[in-house]
Amino acid sequence: MNLYSTLQRGLVELPPPEDGPVRMYFCGPTVYQRAHIGNARPFVLGMWLRNWLRHSGYDATLVHNITDVNDKIYEAAPGASAELAARATEWYLEDTRDLGLGMPDQLPKATESIPGIVHFIEELVAAGHAYAAGGDVYFRVAGDPEYGRLSGQRPDQVEQGEEPSALKEDPRDFALWKANKPGEDTWWESPWGRGRPGWHIECSAMAEAAFGPVFEIHGGGLDLVFPHHENELAQSRALGHEFARIWTHNGMLEFGGEKMSKSLGNDVSLRNVLDTWGREVVLLFFMTGHWRKPIDFTSRARTALRTASRSLASGSDSSTRSTTTSTRWRPCRSSTTGGRAATGTSSTRGSSCSASGCLRFPAPTSTSRGCGETAKTRALRRTGGAPTSCAAGSGSSASTSSTSPAGRGSYPCDPRAGLRATTCARGAPRPPRGARALGDRACGEV
Ligand SMILES: [Zn+2]
Repeated sequence: MNLYSTLQRGLVELPPPEDGPVRMYFCGPTVYQRAHIGNARPFVLGMWLRNWLRHSGYDATLVHNITDVNDKIYEAAPGASAELAARATEWYLEDTRDLGLGMPDQLPKATESIPGIVHFIEELVAAGHAYAAGGDVYFRVAGDPEYGRLSGQRPDQVEQGEEPSALKEDPRDFALWKANKPGEDTWWESPWGRGRPGWHIECSAMAEAAFGPVFEIHGGGLDLVFPHHENELAQSRALGHEFARIWTHNGMLEFGGEKMSKSLGNDVSLRNVLDTWGREVVLLFFMTGHWRKPIDFTSRARTALRTASRSLASGSDSSTRSTTTSTRWRPCRSSTTGGRAATGTSSTRGSSCSASGCLRFPAPTSTSRGCGETAKTRALRRTGGAPTSCAAGSGSSASTSSTSPAGRGSYPCDPRAGLRATTCARGAPRPPRGARALGDRACGEV
């Protein structure tokens, strides 16, 4: 498998599964409001990649952090920032869980990682790569000869986007620790006084706490390349750590200049989008664009989503399945064995495939061969013998898979089967809200 890496400016091949684990750190949200659908893209890509790697035999782990101390949180909830951060964290976890892809292996919070962050800064100060000034601590950009390599910035021209400060030796330096200011209602004691960590150091410390000084893949939105990821890399490299080997940056969500608001009926919060269209359509939407490219969430795109949603709804009833639905999202033509995609078998790339893999989605046609569907299953489904529609009460994967007349591990109604759940008949029980969805073997994985 090859992944485009921003650092190398090209494709980097992942070693085979037997060569070791694939450890992935994807930057998470700053929590002060409900996440919008664009915030979900790195989460979805990270989960698809982790699930696909596991399916392909890799020992893959995903860490996705939560930034729960930040200027934006202070501004959004003066005097109650911690309460807002806690509530918004729950919103984020609830909304992403409802995408039905499973959850990352670890979701570390900045506020629960302070000792490790302080220790990291102490090491940088001791090594001469950082300095304390007026209760703040700053990183010396001039001390890193490779600064700018990730983002392509000229080191002599970088602007951190921070408030100007006379405490800095060099305007290009960036804050590792920030002294507590009036109005900031959360702080921690440190060797430099009462304060809180800067944003960039959080991720270096949390990633290394999870994986050690080197790991395989770092992900996040394209908007994080500079300064966030450039500074993460500089911090870790300053201590002699290799840090991430592959840097993946997803394209941003674009709204085509449209105004988005609840009053206009186009609220783009992930919660609203999920409630309006359902997770299957949201996931289809993310598949309409290559992961590194921008993707439009314009009214035209939403119209297409509605069409897809109707197709899914009609396709959900096997007895009324249409044979003429759109081919906009074709299924990948992957070979399957025993109801599961063959390990290591890459799908033939169709319009729904991207460089990150294929989502084997059952096409809404009467002759489609969905993920995991065998010839025998398909024949049984046509004759009504296969459990294509969920029988009432067939809630567990064990019951549907082990007793399936289709045998050989076909999981058409497995509530953990992610997108396959869309093939359940109308009225069939949906997976319980919050239930762990995909696991590491189910259909719909990439
Ligand atoms: Zn980060």
